[in-house]
Amino acid sequence: MNEHDSERISGLLESDGMTNVDSVATADVVVINTCCIRENADDKFYGTLSQLKNWKTEQDGRQILVAGCLAQKDRDAIRKRAPYVDVVIGTHNVHRAAELLEQTRDGRPVTEILEEAILDDHTMFPSALPMRREISYNAWVTIQIGCDNTCAYCIVPAVRGKEISRPASEILAEVESLARSGVTQISLIGQNVNSYGRDLSMSARAAGDTSVKPRPQFAELLRKVGQVAGIRRVRFVSPHPKDMREDTFLAMAETPNVVEHLHYPMQSGSDNVLALMHRGYTAERYMKQLMQARAMIDDLAVTTDVIVGFPGETEQDFVQTVEVCAEACFDSAFSFIFSPRPGTQAAQMADKFIDPQLAVERYERLKIVLDHSAVIKHRERIGRIEDVVVEGMSKKNPHLTTGRTRQNKILHFSSPESLRVGTYAKVEVTDAARFHLSGHLIEVGDAPTHKVRIAVSSGN
Ligand code: SF4
Repeated sequence: MNEHDSERISGLLESDGMTNVDSVATADVVVINTCCIRENADDKFYGTLSQLKNWKTEQDGRQILVAGCLAQKDRDAIRKRAPYVDVVIGTHNVHRAAELLEQTRDGRPVTEILEEAILDDHTMFPSALPMRREISYNAWVTIQIGCDNTCAYCIVPAVRGKEISRPASEILAEVESLARSGVTQISLIGQNVNSYGRDLSMSARAAGDTSVKPRPQFAELLRKVGQVAGIRRVRFVSPHPKDMREDTFLAMAETPNVVEHLHYPMQSGSDNVLALMHRGYTAERYMKQLMQARAMIDDLAVTTDVIVGFPGETEQDFVQTVEVCAEACFDSAFSFIFSPRPGTQAAQMADKFIDPQLAVERYERLKIVLDHSAVIKHRERIGRIEDVVVEGMSKKNPHLTTGRTRQNKILHFSSPESLRVGTYAKVEVTDAARFHLSGHLIEVGDAPTHKVRIAVSSGN
């Protein structure tokens, strides 16, 4: 969501006449789009901000804009710690970035934060705003904003507001328009995608349409997006196990363009900890759903998120998490050591905080299991021919091309010819590691159709 907001801000500033530069030293405007999900991001942000103080005073007219959920949460702290910031905007004010930079050219700073998105306002889902996509063949499409859940560790409901689904007709219109511009991969995003549409059906019923059932509509949306001509891959993040229904797995299985990848955040394998986290499911239910998904969707890759050292986590709770992770054998996992986020329920549980050293030890123990599973899953793919979309040259080895498989795995491969970003190709997997696969090109498929940006100098 945060990356998508960055794309919007970039697009707005470009359409206002600015160009992207490679270094802060040559910039006139610096935008920091913050995310407060993790603690060290806060620290890094304030460090960066203090470094920018000198940058700003070195040349007249330089401006700093701070956006994102940390700005939403810490608006006063930012003003106090860095009064030289020109513009502070919240998560619902992204569309105002260019106007506010213009407005503050006289040196008078502005803070603009909406607590909630404005219903019926185009700014809620500003698909019409210009966008500068970082991955040319892929487009993030927001299907929902906010979250109605109350996960104890999470700051999102406080900074992104209540859950609001975007009408399916608008989403489809955006996807069709993206497909016409050559985008071939759509990533549907929301905080809790599989509850998508529940609010829309409730509103329709409240308005008197009793033919609409009060239930989520994510599975139908997935099928429709998967049928848009020109779209070859549909991804989505993130579903919540509490709201997962069989119809979503069925839609994934029956819609060829929906990829075989499910990011399924588990968070803990202990029922005690899941209850403390307010996740709304048990480890047993999570595993049942996982097995159902694997049985229904051929060749499915499953990834997850796990938090280690949540307040009150005992050794027994932790061992249960390790056991469930071993049984689940995830393709990969994002594991985190719990850190309290001010403003969350978990931050109030100081009497149950785990000794930091113990949390690190547990994290390392869990990592051994997660890494082992990833290697098992990746080795299973040796000898297969994978469909990849080219992401560019390998960052570590310029003789290799990097692609992304349908299961969302990175595949570095040798190719006798240079392939443009967005090209589809068939690649044989010959080796596997924890985080990537290796292989060689078998066949070049469809060339990219997205429009390519060409930098043009004004000559002034
Ligand atoms: S579902 Fe839970 S973790 Fe996800 S955004 Fe909502 S509150 Fe946060």
